Amino acid sequence: MERLQKVIAHAGIASRRKAEELIQEGKVKVNDKTVQELGVKVGPSDKIEVAGVPVEREEPVYFLLYKPRGVISSVSDDKGRKVVTDFFPYIKERIYPVGRLDFDTSGLLLMTNDGEFANALMHPKSELEKIYVAKLKGIPTKEAIKKLERGIKLEDGKTAPAKIKMLSIEKKKNTSIYEISIHEGRNRQVRRMFEAIGHPVMKLKRERYGFLTLQGLSAGDARELTPHEVKQMR
Ligand code: URA
Repeated sequence: MERLQKVIAHAGIASRRKAEELIQEGKVKVNDKTVQELGVKVGPSDKIEVAGVPVEREEPVYFLLYKPRGVISSVSDDKGRKVVTDFFPYIKERIYPVGRLDFDTSGLLLMTNDGEFANALMHPKSELEKIYVAKLKGIPTKEAIKKLERGIKLEDGKTAPAKIKMLSIEKKKNTSIYEISIHEGRNRQVRRMFEAIGHPVMKLKRERYGFLTLQGLSAGDARELTPHEVKQMR
C-alpha cells in the first residue's frame, strides 16, 4: 500500500505537494469516491481518478540509454524520425526521457515511467552535475574560456559557473575538444554557451549525469539502472 499522493506523483501527474492540493481540493477519487483527507493509502487494484481522468499505474522502471546522434528525445515524432523509445522495443511500460538531448547530441539519457523521479532530477534544485565533451570550431582563448567558467550572458539570463577542461587541439583543422561540466539544463545550453564566445559546437556528447557514466555501452545500447543507483539518484 502506498500513499495516494505518492501514487499520483509517480504517475507524473503532479508533484507530491501539488497532488496533496488536488486531494484537498476534492479533485481525486478512489474507487469512485472523492477523497479529501491526506494519508489515505491505496493498493494496486484501487481505481484512482484525478479530475475525472484515470491514473495509469505501472511498476516504476529506470533505464540508461546511450543516445546516438540523429535521434529525437521524445516518445513519438510526427515526421517519422527515430525517437529514443525505439531503443526499447520489448519494454511494455510507457517510459519517456528525463529531460532531453538535442537531435544531434549523443550520450547519456535516462528513461523512466516514474514521473516523480524525472521531475526531481529535472528540477534546477537537483543541481546534478552533467559533463559534456564538445568539439568546437576554432580554438578559444583562455580569456574566452574564463568567461564561460564565470558565467556568460545568454538570452535567458546569465549561466551559473561552469568547469571547463581542454582535452585536445587540432591546429591544422582549426578545431578543439573541451570538456564542460554544468549543473543547469537549459535548452541547447552548451551549444549556446560556446556560440556566445564565437566557437560553435560541431559535435556534442553527454558523458556523465550525476555519478552515472556511459561505461561499457556503445551508441544505441541501454541498460537498466540497479536499485542502488536509483536510490542514489534520488
Ligand atoms: N546542451 C546542448 O546544447 N545540447 C544538449 O543536447 C545538451 C546540453
